[in-house]
Amino acid sequence: MKSENGRKKIRRLKSINFVLSKYFLVFTFVLIMVIEGVIFVIVNITSEGRIRERLTYIGKEVTMYVNTHNEEEISRYLYSYRHEGINLYIISTEGEALLPLDDVSDIDWGERIEGIKSRLEGYGPGEAVIYEENDIINFVTVVKYGKGSFLVANYSLRILKDSMKLMIGYFIGIGMIVLAIAALLSYSISQRLSSGLRNISTTAVRLAKGDLTVNFANAEYQELADLSDTLNIVRDEVKKSGDFQRELLANVSHDLKTPLTMIKAYASMIREISGDNPEKRDKHLQVIIDESDRLTSLVNDVLSVSKVNSNLAETNKKVFNLTEFLYGIINKFEYLQETQGYNIMVDVDANLYTSADDEKIGQVIYNLLGNAVNYTGEDKTVYISLKSQLNGRIKLSVRDTGKGIAKEDLPEIWNRYYRVKENHSRPVKGTGLGLNIVKIILENHNFDYGVNSELGKGSTFWVDFPSVPADIEIK
Ligand code: ADP
Repeated sequence: MKSENGRKKIRRLKSINFVLSKYFLVFTFVLIMVIEGVIFVIVNITSEGRIRERLTYIGKEVTMYVNTHNEEEISRYLYSYRHEGINLYIISTEGEALLPLDDVSDIDWGERIEGIKSRLEGYGPGEAVIYEENDIINFVTVVKYGKGSFLVANYSLRILKDSMKLMIGYFIGIGMIVLAIAALLSYSISQRLSSGLRNISTTAVRLAKGDLTVNFANAEYQELADLSDTLNIVRDEVKKSGDFQRELLANVSHDLKTPLTMIKAYASMIREISGDNPEKRDKHLQVIIDESDRLTSLVNDVLSVSKVNSNLAETNKKVFNLTEFLYGIINKFEYLQETQGYNIMVDVDANLYTSADDEKIGQVIYNLLGNAVNYTGEDKTVYISLKSQLNGRIKLSVRDTGKGIAKEDLPEIWNRYYRVKENHSRPVKGTGLGLNIVKIILENHNFDYGVNSELGKGSTFWVDFPSVPADIEIK
C-alpha cells in the first residue's frame, strides 16, 4: 500500500513535455515583449525628436531669410519645405495669414492667434517655442516681417502615429506567429525527447520481466543513444550470466554423472566379481580413486569460480617468498612423481620475494602445474622455472611437452568452460574452468601473463611477478 502511494506520488511529477513547453513559451513571450518594446520606444522617441530638431533648424533658417529677402522669395522659400510635410506660415499679430502667397489652406488664424501670442509672451526675437497640439508639432517664433509677425512651422504627426498603430498591429501579429511556432517547436522537441525516454522505459520493463531479446535502439539524441547502449550492455551481461549459469549447471551435472556412474559400476564389480582377486580388485579400486579425484577437482573448480567471482575486487596483497611458496606447491605434486612416473624439473632462483595475494597466486600456480601435468607428452615431464629478470621482475614459466595448443584456440583457452576439442595423449580430466580462474586472478593483480605454444612441441605458460626487496617482509 505504501509503495503504491509512493509510486503515485512520483507519477504526479511534472512531465518533461509540460516543463519544457512552459519555459519555452514564457521565454519566447518575454523575448518578444522586450524586443518589440525596445523597437517601439526607439522608433517613437527618435522620430519625434528628429522632427522637433528639424522644425527648430528650419525655423531659425527662415527667421534669418526673412530679414534679407523680399516677399516673393520668402514665399517660395516657405513653400520649398512642403515636400517634407512641413508647413510654414508668417502670420500678422492680428491673426492674418501674410505668407506664403496664394496659400490654399483654410486655417482660421484669427482663432489661433491668441494661443500663439500667449505662448510667446515674454519671448523676444530669435526665441522660439515648440509644442504639440492635436497630433501636430508646432514651432512658433517672432519674425521681423512687416510690423512684426509670427513664424509658425508645423508638422502633422498623424502619419507617424498611424504608422505606429500599424506597427503595433504587425508586432502583435508577428509576436503571435512566433509564439505559435515556439509552442509547436517545444511540443515537438519535448514529445521526441519524452517519447525516446518512454521507449527506453518500456523496453527496460520488458527486460526486467526477463525478455532478453529486447533491443534498446534510440539514436536521436546523444544522451539517449548512450543510455540505450549502456542498457544493451546490461542486457548482454544479464544474458551472458544466465547463459553461463545454465551452461555451468548442464556441464557440471554431466561431468558429475560420468564419475559417479563409474564409481558405482566399479564398486559393484568389486563386490560381485573382483573382491577375491587382489590384482583385479586393486585395479578397480584405482579406478574408483581416480574418479573420486576427478569429482573432487571438479567440485573445487566450481567452488573456485564462484569464489573468485564473488570477491573479484578483493585482493589481499602481502609480501612473501615466492620461491619457498612455489616449492610448497611442487611438493604437493610429489605423489605423482612417485606413483605415476612423472618428472617435474625445477629451475628456481633462491629467495625471490613478491607482493600479491598468496592464496590466490597459489591457485594460479596450482592450476598451471595441474594443466601441464595433464597435458604433457609421453615423457611425462614438466619444467618449472622461476627466474629473476633484468627488468626487476620475476618470471614463472611452466612448460610441458604435450601436443601444444592451436593458434586459433590460444585466445579462447582463458574463457570460462572452454576446452580444446582435440584428443590429448591421455584421457584428460578437466572442466575448462582452471585457466579462467587464472585469468581473473592475474588481471585482478594487474600481472602480465600468457602462453607460448607450438603444435606438437608443447606449451609454456608464464606469469610476470613484481620483485620486491625481502626486508619489507621483516618489518
Ligand atoms: P581444463 O580443466 O579443461 O584443463 P582449463 O581452463 O585449465 O580447463 O584449460 C582450458 C583448455 O585449454 C583445456 O581444456 C585444454 O584444451 C587447453 N589447455 C590448457 N593447458 C594446456 C596445456 N598445458 N597444453 C595443452 N592444452 C592446454
